[in-house]
Amino acid sequence: MIPDLQRPTSRTYRPAREVVVLGSTGSIGTQTLEVAALFPERLRIRALSAGRNWELLAEQARSVRPERVAIVDEAAAGPLRAALADTGIEVVVGAEALVTLAADPEADVVVGAVVGAAGLRPTLAALEAGTDVALATKEALVIAGALVTEVSARTGARVLPIDSEHSALFQCLVGEPAASIERVILTASGGPFRDRDPRTFGSVTAAEALAHPNWDMGARISVDSATMMNKGLEVIEARWLYDLAPDQIGVVVHPQSIVHSVVEFVDGSAKAQVGVPDMRVPIQYALTFPDRWPAPHPRLDWGTLGTLDFRAPDLDAFPALALAFRAMEEGGAAPAVLNAADEVAVAAFLDGQIGFTDIARLVEEAMDAHGGAPSNTLDDLLAADSAARQHVRQSLTVSADAG
Ligand code: MG
Repeated sequence: MIPDLQRPTSRTYRPAREVVVLGSTGSIGTQTLEVAALFPERLRIRALSAGRNWELLAEQARSVRPERVAIVDEAAAGPLRAALADTGIEVVVGAEALVTLAADPEADVVVGAVVGAAGLRPTLAALEAGTDVALATKEALVIAGALVTEVSARTGARVLPIDSEHSALFQCLVGEPAASIERVILTASGGPFRDRDPRTFGSVTAAEALAHPNWDMGARISVDSATMMNKGLEVIEARWLYDLAPDQIGVVVHPQSIVHSVVEFVDGSAKAQVGVPDMRVPIQYALTFPDRWPAPHPRLDWGTLGTLDFRAPDLDAFPALALAFRAMEEGGAAPAVLNAADEVAVAAFLDGQIGFTDIARLVEEAMDAHGGAPSNTLDDLLAADSAARQHVRQSLTVSADAG
């Protein structure tokens, strides 16, 4: 997708950009609405969606007055309709409603912040409709990177990354031809256990894993950050976003999360994008690209910043990161299996069914069993996703019976 950065935008934006926010009640969704509130004349919220949190969705809708809201959970539809009865806001229901919102021909940009594989079809629907997607949903590129890239290239709709690392790479790459990239380096905070003795990882609790030092995030991504699976998924996303070979992507642990990522160029020069860790900055850039709009987000205080540290990741202590590199190299269905197995394993960990180190073990077993599944179509990939989930659930049942 790199050469497209040079291309003038395929759309003429209206004075106010019409924004659809899928997943508006999550961490990225709520911060997207905070950004939009800074620019009421320039960003108009056209539609919102939530999985099941109808209370917050109704509150958001009353505040930003979209034309439509979608709720996936059918049981939440009644209360949501009642809460918005006097507003004239249309309520649509079910997983297919996300696709309807995403494919809205009047949208200028769709923010894809739905958690999980549920974000995949809406992402493809927006791109098929020729609408740029400001993408936070990792699964879209991890599960179906080849498909997403193909649709984007065919329709000219762009994937604008929201994730801080990919936004950093994106910002470093503006104005640079693809042939000048040598490699990229994603920075990783290292998560809450970067300085913990790996021999004690077996006794890690869910509460410890959820306490991320630098970023305020959802539950799965916090645990994925603790195992470094999150960085692994980001490596796979970067491969697709910037058309890179596996050996062109590196990871470095950088505890302060000030340097958001680095691009190294063929002439030996490197660019890094830096800033206070605050997701509103990359969210805003995805909504305003190719422009930058003045905003009061926190600035770095260079005089007190002090020392920035960097070190190589420990792949023995954090095997999930090594598994993600393996999945990227294997390609096909392997990344989909990696992601699905991890999602189920993380849920089991949060539920107290398994230990912290069991997460990577279960993911590896699922990859061994299903990583080579067919991957030609979206249905193939979703079947591999299901098989991986089933595989992990089966292992959980077996170990529960044995225990
Ligand atoms: Mg990130």
